[in-house]
Amino acid sequence: MTSPVSRIRTAIDFEKNGKQIGDLHVPSSTNESAYGVVPIPIAVVKNGKGPTIFFTGGVHGDEYEGQVALMKLARRLKAGQIQGRVIVIPALNLPAAEAGARCSPLDGLNMNRIFPGSKEGSITLQIAHYVSNVILPMVDVQIDMHSGGKTLEYIPTIIMNRSKDKKREARTREALMAFGMPIGLYDVKTDHGGLFEMECEARGILAINAELGGAGRVDLNTLRMAEHAVDNMLKFFGLMKGKIVTPKMQGRAPTRLMETNDPRANVYCPDRGLFEPFVDLGAEVKAGQALGQVHFPGNSAREPWTVTGRLKGLVILKRPPGRVERGDVVFQIATDKKG
Ligand SMILES: [Zn+2]
Repeated sequence: MTSPVSRIRTAIDFEKNGKQIGDLHVPSSTNESAYGVVPIPIAVVKNGKGPTIFFTGGVHGDEYEGQVALMKLARRLKAGQIQGRVIVIPALNLPAAEAGARCSPLDGLNMNRIFPGSKEGSITLQIAHYVSNVILPMVDVQIDMHSGGKTLEYIPTIIMNRSKDKKREARTREALMAFGMPIGLYDVKTDHGGLFEMECEARGILAINAELGGAGRVDLNTLRMAEHAVDNMLKFFGLMKGKIVTPKMQGRAPTRLMETNDPRANVYCPDRGLFEPFVDLGAEVKAGQALGQVHFPGNSAREPWTVTGRLKGLVILKRPPGRVERGDVVFQIATDKKG
């Protein structure tokens, strides 16, 4: 299908009933391939009338759990199982996914900072532009599967944003609980900032995004949670029959609704060196607590620099790599949401 609004083409017909697996062809004319394209896999499963739910993974290429869960979804989902339309792109920033990198190796861009993209821009801008202007107008619900990538690790978390539309915000909160992660974060991003979810908000689309794990791994338990969550969303929004698999049914506590809107939530590293953590993911910490220290391999006589948290709460994010630079986030502390 060609579209006057984008240079990206696909043989997929988004209006056709049944299951289609194909590619988005993003033009990429290079020294090695004059008329080449970057083919980004996409699956569309449609059965009659009903809502359209759009799943994306690999917006950051080094975040693997969502990519795996969505590749499996794309293969297993059959049109007869649903009512409505499911669009799945497991690795939206495919060049980054194949490089195992956060940003695209082709233009250096971070896809989740450049929405709504541009038609004539570099490859990452073109993909974001296609999503914004061709796919999103068809979409009712957008679910973006992230994780901490190679340099961060989350307790599996699902995030929603405040909306101008209070009815949609209430529905989003219900979806967040149905998603069924250990942590639910209620964010207050209101500026655009090039974020995918803000483009959805601007277009009146219900959007949530997961932070599934990270550390450059595919953790078995996290992946299982993600796969239940994907089906839970199909059930919650009425595309699929069946009961939502709650955290309790998975042997876990219910989703803990928290926030990280306090500017003190992120704990930054004060200097370059080797980081020794004093706490791990899931630790309940106090304001003023020493959370770790930075050692200086180039100067054994120098005392380590203690890194102190400024907020009481739960450590939901940690930086696994030992090497640190000044300005790296080493922890994020969440507080329970009030109200
Ligand atoms: Zn990400």
